[in-house]
Amino acid sequence: MYFTYLLDLLRNKVCSIKTYYATGLLFVIMENTELWQSVLAQMQLHISKANFATWFQNTGIALKENEKVIISVPNAFSKEWLSNKYYKLMLKIMHDIDATIKELEFTINPQSLKALVVKEAADTAKIDIEQLKFDEFKINKETNLNPRYTFENFVVGSFNELPCAAALAVSENPGYAYNPLFIYGGVGLGKTHLIQAIGNQIANDPKKKKVRYMPSEKLVSGIVAAIRSNSMESFKASLAPIDVLIIDDIQFIAGKNKSQEEFFHVFNSLYEKNKQIILSSDRPPNAIPELEERLRSRLGGGMTIDVSLPDYETRLAILKTKLQEKNIKLPEDVLEYIASNVKKNVRELEGALNSLLIYYKINNNIPNLEIAKKLLKGFVFSPFDVANYKKIIETVAKFYNLEEKNLFDSTRRKEIVRPRQVAMFLLRKELKYSFPAIARKFGGKDHTTVIYAYKKILRESEENNKLTDELNLIKQRVYSG
Ligand code: ADP
Ligand code: MG
Repeated sequence: MYFTYLLDLLRNKVCSIKTYYATGLLFVIMENTELWQSVLAQMQLHISKANFATWFQNTGIALKENEKVIISVPNAFSKEWLSNKYYKLMLKIMHDIDATIKELEFTINPQSLKALVVKEAADTAKIDIEQLKFDEFKINKETNLNPRYTFENFVVGSFNELPCAAALAVSENPGYAYNPLFIYGGVGLGKTHLIQAIGNQIANDPKKKKVRYMPSEKLVSGIVAAIRSNSMESFKASLAPIDVLIIDDIQFIAGKNKSQEEFFHVFNSLYEKNKQIILSSDRPPNAIPELEERLRSRLGGGMTIDVSLPDYETRLAILKTKLQEKNIKLPEDVLEYIASNVKKNVRELEGALNSLLIYYKINNNIPNLEIAKKLLKGFVFSPFDVANYKKIIETVAKFYNLEEKNLFDSTRRKEIVRPRQVAMFLLRKELKYSFPAIARKFGGKDHTTVIYAYKKILRESEENNKLTDELNLIKQRVYSG
């Protein structure tokens, strides 16, 4: 691909040799970035989220020379940890993509180096920074939307038919169709894509409505800063002219009382003026813990709708759409292999596809089924696909906004008893632990207490949709790493 691009440049004589050289350099940087993204996507499948965040933050490929790749890391700890613990795995992943890579080296303090190289390349070639294709550069300053997220490139299947229909209705008639529109579901299922697509559609309409997209962390930090600097009124005033307010991952507002209070007022004043409010979350409003009751009822007061997992046909359709966008073809059996084996979510599907594309780019060779199987091992046999004790405890605690140790407190407080019973229930149901074994884990309780908990949750989940929803969401997370 990159060669054809260069050939085109030469054929059309649009560039000087200097530009040609710099364009090449730019491609090398992009290639390194993509290679590293591919490594990160696979590493994520092999190690826990917490470890991943700790050790891979601010890492990158500083340089690739001959058989050696030099990896930049932020500090000596990372260097030591990565080279001791993950050297082999990282090398194997890279070697599978690019067989010429045989050795890794680590270098500390990479940021300055990376920044310098990118700057140099961009300067020399005077290439529009857009060409770097890094998403951050494309975000619209005014709306905060990424133009990459549109309805045109959003694949619809039975798993997201309803939320997509609701999203279209809202974008045709903002403020009047469904207000608020609340979309929830597990990670990587297209929530951000969909709510941004609504934003882009409305923002590009000649009616010129004012759209603003905000991840909820931004909302919270904005409110906190406004409180601190005594400028809450001007913060609210800045949101007043907005016609469509989109808040992503609203569940993070849980437990943040002051932010909830201020957001409640912002919500009301927009809502009263028939301004559209769109929200996404990893769970429905009634399952967000520590949410003020009046805000909970506002959030769930319009259309609340979930995205589930894509089925095989949709996974295949998504792969084909992504390839079409990139104007690349892969053999049908390879696509079928990915669609039938990478099932967790759309983000992972994209990750798998990108691993093959970077292989293709580097080797200039279309991966066949055999190569694809080798490259996608991490995606297909992820150790995180299986549940275990630690994951169940971790996930239940996180879901209910507790610390893990709280689950083992000997207390009868309702906020703890229920999550504890849920944990016991899942250990029995998902891992087939015996009742006495569960009792031992929970500080030697009598095993009849565990039987009681199990039966209680089982019975209630049969009668109570909210609890069934909660159990499903927890299970989804346990199984999706
Ligand atoms: P979420 O916000 O639910 O975690 P995202 O919206 O970030 O998920 O989606 C993850 C990736 O998958 C994004 O790159 C997105 O473009 C892509 N994606 C998700 N759903 C679809 C879909 N239905 N069609 C095309 N791409 C999708
Ligand atoms: Mg998202």
